[in-house]
Amino acid sequence: MRVVETMTPPRGAMAPPMRPVPDPRGTTGVPACRQARTPIVPRGSGTGLIGGAMAPRGGVMVSTTRMNRILEIDIANRSATVEPGLINLWLSHAVHERGYFFAPDPSSQMVSSIGGNVSTNAGGPHCLKYGITTNHVLGLQLVTGAGELVWLGGKTLDRPGYDLTGVAVGAEGTFGLVTAITVRLLHEPEAVKTALASFASMEAAAEAVSAIIAAGMTPAALEMLDDIMIRAVNAGSGADFPAAAGAVLLIELDGPRAETEAQAERAAAICRERGALEVRVARDDAERALLWKGRKEAAGAVGRLAPTYLLQDAVVPRSKLPLIMREMAAIAARHQVLIANVFHAGDGNLHPLICFDDRVPAELARAKAANEELLQACIALGGTVTGEHGVGFDKAKNLPLQYADVDLNFMYRLRRLFDPDGLMNPDKLLPAHPACGEGFRPARPELPAGVWI
Ligand SMILES: Cc1cc2nc3c(=O)[nH]c(=O)nc-3n(C[C@H](O)[C@H](O)[C@H](O)COP(=O)(O)OP(=O)(O)OC[C@H]3O[C@@H](n4cnc5c(N)ncnc54)[C@H](O)[C@@H]3O)c2cc1C
Repeated sequence: MRVVETMTPPRGAMAPPMRPVPDPRGTTGVPACRQARTPIVPRGSGTGLIGGAMAPRGGVMVSTTRMNRILEIDIANRSATVEPGLINLWLSHAVHERGYFFAPDPSSQMVSSIGGNVSTNAGGPHCLKYGITTNHVLGLQLVTGAGELVWLGGKTLDRPGYDLTGVAVGAEGTFGLVTAITVRLLHEPEAVKTALASFASMEAAAEAVSAIIAAGMTPAALEMLDDIMIRAVNAGSGADFPAAAGAVLLIELDGPRAETEAQAERAAAICRERGALEVRVARDDAERALLWKGRKEAAGAVGRLAPTYLLQDAVVPRSKLPLIMREMAAIAARHQVLIANVFHAGDGNLHPLICFDDRVPAELARAKAANEELLQACIALGGTVTGEHGVGFDKAKNLPLQYADVDLNFMYRLRRLFDPDGLMNPDKLLPAHPACGEGFRPARPELPAGVWI
């Protein structure tokens, strides 16, 4: 890993940091693929959960794993420029000694790449307070599907023109290959307090979540696990979550020491008022790390419950959490499936894990049916089809649940500006029209019938 230090702001701070960034056009092969009309599928670490880095119609898969250098750390401007294959956590490790960190923290952060995080606009436990990946990307270098090398954004805020960085974050490889990224670095908080509150039921825990937010606090993280997940985690991680609880809330507050301590006491008091069975505050870093170990290993721990799981990623407004929990229990009973839950409760971002045995076809069918019904239930409560994992191959078919044809058509036209030949990660993010695969019949009444855009 090569680190270029810039301790003073560079001259002409409006200019993107072109100097240390190599020109990748010759190596991406985009022009050659265009000539051969061959699809290109970008791939980071391959931890995506929506089939985004799969190549269902073949083509060239461009892996970024060896583009893993930190190109520049610029403490004076609180930014870093990195190659896309850099593992998320490596950046925080590289700046930790100077008291800084990179805030987006998907639970996969020890293995997923920053390029993948940018392309899926990843979230994570601490995004409740710090925001999602897009809030931390200042600029990026992109080789578009047309083979052009462009810099979007840069180190300074509020650059003139369109916010194309914002448009490109979350594009899931459909605009081109992200070849360098300038991200924000944040100063580490003075103090961190982490507590675990246990409740008799998911509904009680969900009500405590709403009450904590309504009290004016913004915890750094507010994560929930249900009783099924508690059993799975306790069996393997040594986290020792209260075994008899119906749900636990992992609450983390950070900031100036005095404020953090006062808020931690207030949050604990709210949990007790809402019927918490127990509130356990981590006394030191080791206890805090153990609580987080339980949370971060939760998805893997489900392997103790069933050989396979189907992971849903949908959102409901926070206030609707108690309602969706009841609905989820009904769906599980109707389809005779076991559903374990671990999720970002503060954001209303659910991650039900539907457990099944893929060697039994009937179980797979029931898991899929429960999964689709869950998604419909979230939409009916005012939610969205994906929270943080993206759309990819898996959820492209679900986008019409949330967008009108006219909205989808607009997105199609935007995609074509970056990728005129439709070669960049085809079949991902936007659904193909069943009739022609070329966009949607416009819903605008003023357009003549039968016109396709
Ligand atoms: C255990 C586990 C926990 C997870 N927890 C979270 C979580 O808390 N929050 C969350 O948001 N996600 C989570 N994920 C999902 C996943 O880790 C994220 O979506 C992550 O951002 C994907 O990064 P990656 O490097 O693995 O990308 P990949 O899976 O390789 O690719 C993801 C998408 O990005 C595109 N892409 C990758 N690199 C580039 C590039 N350089 N240029 C253009 N397009 C590119 C790919 O084409 C694909 O569409 C989790 C996954 C696992 C397995």
